[in-house]
Amino acid sequence: MRAAGRLVAEVREAVRRMVQPGVTTLELDMAAEQMIRDAGALPTFKGYHGFPFSICASVNEQVVHGFPSAYALKEGDIFSLDCGVTLGGFVGDTATTVPVGRVDEDRLKLIRVAEECLERAIQQCWPGKHLGDIGWAVQELAEAHGYGIVRDYVGHGIGRKMHEDPQIPNYGKPGTGIKIRSGYVFAIEPMINMGTHKTKTLKDGWTVVTLDGRPSAHVEHTVAVTEEGPEVLTRLAESAPTQPQAETVGA
Ligand code: MG
Ligand code: MG
Repeated sequence: MRAAGRLVAEVREAVRRMVQPGVTTLELDMAAEQMIRDAGALPTFKGYHGFPFSICASVNEQVVHGFPSAYALKEGDIFSLDCGVTLGGFVGDTATTVPVGRVDEDRLKLIRVAEECLERAIQQCWPGKHLGDIGWAVQELAEAHGYGIVRDYVGHGIGRKMHEDPQIPNYGKPGTGIKIRSGYVFAIEPMINMGTHKTKTLKDGWTVVTLDGRPSAHVEHTVAVTEEGPEVLTRLAESAPTQPQAETVGA
């Protein structure tokens, strides 16, 4: 799982470096798929319940599961990239939201808070904690900023399959739910909306958008629980945080 996590993190970072005004999300998809196959892995998303691409490309009000397309990213967009790989029989799953060129402060803050929500959730991944602690860590911070936490989609256990039990909501009550044990591996993925938490699915049957059309950010790591605490399998040691972790993020 470390190998799968590392590869998908490398793909995520390679795609991030390609993001700029004018690049199409289909170009990003093709680059990701090539990189995955060159590494001897499979793009887990492609064909998953019929999903036709190797990445999900969700722009602005699109929350998750957006189709890569001929749409060219433009200055001011925020672009959520989600990717999964299967390597050696195990899956890694990661997502990030990238600002395209110069982006307004409201959207940058949305991304920063989503990233901070994910970090706080990861810090709950210790043996003896509960799933509700993960959800609460996200909920507490996101709601302090008045953001909507997507209910319709959640994080998940991960291993030989991408989606394994248990479901990991981005909301919850501390000390409740399944007790976390060493050896569990989770894909934790806050989906944070600037406005309402409510979503709808477009006619393509996949693309999820916010009901009010306001922007959404999605970030995800695959995290192993060890006796020494959380080990983030999709973090590259050498990669800097996407956004400076501003002091103002804290509630
Ligand atoms: Mg994902
Ligand atoms: Mg996932």
